[in-house]
Amino acid sequence: MNYASNILETIGKTPLVKLNSITSEIPSLVLAKIESFNPGNSIKDRIAVKMIEDAEKEGKLSKGGVIVEGTSGNTGMGLALASIVKGYKLICVSNDKQSKEKFDVLRAMGAEVIVCPSDVDPEDSRSYYSVSKKIAEETPNSWFVGQYDNLSNSLAHYEQTGPEIWNQTDGKITHFVVGVGTGGTISGVAKFLKEKNPKIKIWGIDTYGSVFKKYHETGIFDKNEIYPYTTEGIGEDIIPKNVAFHLIDHFEKVNDKDAALFTRKLAKEEGIFAGNSCGAAVKGLLQLKESLTESDVVVVLLHDSGSRYIAKIYNDDWMIEKGFLKRKQK
Ligand code: PMP
Repeated sequence: MNYASNILETIGKTPLVKLNSITSEIPSLVLAKIESFNPGNSIKDRIAVKMIEDAEKEGKLSKGGVIVEGTSGNTGMGLALASIVKGYKLICVSNDKQSKEKFDVLRAMGAEVIVCPSDVDPEDSRSYYSVSKKIAEETPNSWFVGQYDNLSNSLAHYEQTGPEIWNQTDGKITHFVVGVGTGGTISGVAKFLKEKNPKIKIWGIDTYGSVFKKYHETGIFDKNEIYPYTTEGIGEDIIPKNVAFHLIDHFEKVNDKDAALFTRKLAKEEGIFAGNSCGAAVKGLLQLKESLTESDVVVVLLHDSGSRYIAKIYNDDWMIEKGFLKRKQK
C-alpha cells in the first residue's frame, strides 16, 4: 500500500512542466514549477508547516496553543491545514478589502476569521496589524506567525523547493524566475541554487506600486514608489526580513493589466489554471527574453491556483471594470 499518514505529508514534490505556447518567443527551455499541486493549492503549505514546526522546537507553541496570523490568503490556508492535523486553534486577522470567499474558505477549514477595516492607518488600533498583535499579546498560549520576518519561511524553500528544482532539472537550471512578496520563496531557493552553482541567475518579479526594485538598485526606501495595485501576492510597502537582496540578480516590474492578461493566457494556452502572480512571473520573464539563449534552462515558479481569482482575473466584468479588457461590441 502507498499512502500518506496525513494531508501534510502530501506537501511538496510538485511537478515541473514545460511551457510550450506562452513562452514560444523565448529560445530557452522554460519549465514551470506548479505549486497549486500542494493540498492547500499553494506554495504556502510548505512554509506554514515549517514555521509551526520550528516554533514547536523553540518552545513558542505547545499543545492546545493558538496560532495567530495577519492573513486571509494562501498562508492562512496552509496554517489551517497544519492546525487541523496538529490540533491547534487558528485565528486569521484580515481586512475588508479581501473577498468574502477567502474568509469562507478559511472558516470551512476551522479557522476563526476577524475582519478589520482597511481604510485606517497601520498604527490605528482598529487596523489588522494592531488587532492581530493585540490578539497575540492577550491570548494565553498563543503564537504570532509573522511570515514577513519569520526566517523559517525562507528556510522551508532552502530545504525543500530549492533541492526539488535542482534535482528535477538535473542541475541544469540556469535561471530562476519568481514573484516576490515576503521574499521567502526567492531567497530560500536562491541560497540553495547559488550554493550549488553561483552562476545561476535569480530574477525577482515585482509590481508597480512596490518598493522592491528601487530598493534593490539604489538602497533607497522610496515612499513615492508606494501606491495601490491589483496584482495579488507580490510587491510590498515594507522591506521584509525574508528578502535576501544580495542573492537576487535583477528585479523586473510587471503592470497589473499584463499580470492579469498573462494569468488568463496561462489557462487558455497551457491548460494551467494559476493565480495572479503567476501571470506576472511569466510576463516578467518574457520582458527579459533578450538575455536568454538556446542553451539556457529557465524555471519559473507558479505560486498558487486560479480558484482564488474566479471573481477577479477570471471574471470578464471585473476585468472590464479595471480596464484590463474591452467590452465586446454587440
Ligand atoms: N504569489 C502569491 C499568490 C502569494 O500569495 C505570495 C506570497 N505573498 C507570493 C506570490 C510571493 O511569495 P513570497 O512571499 O514567498 O515572496
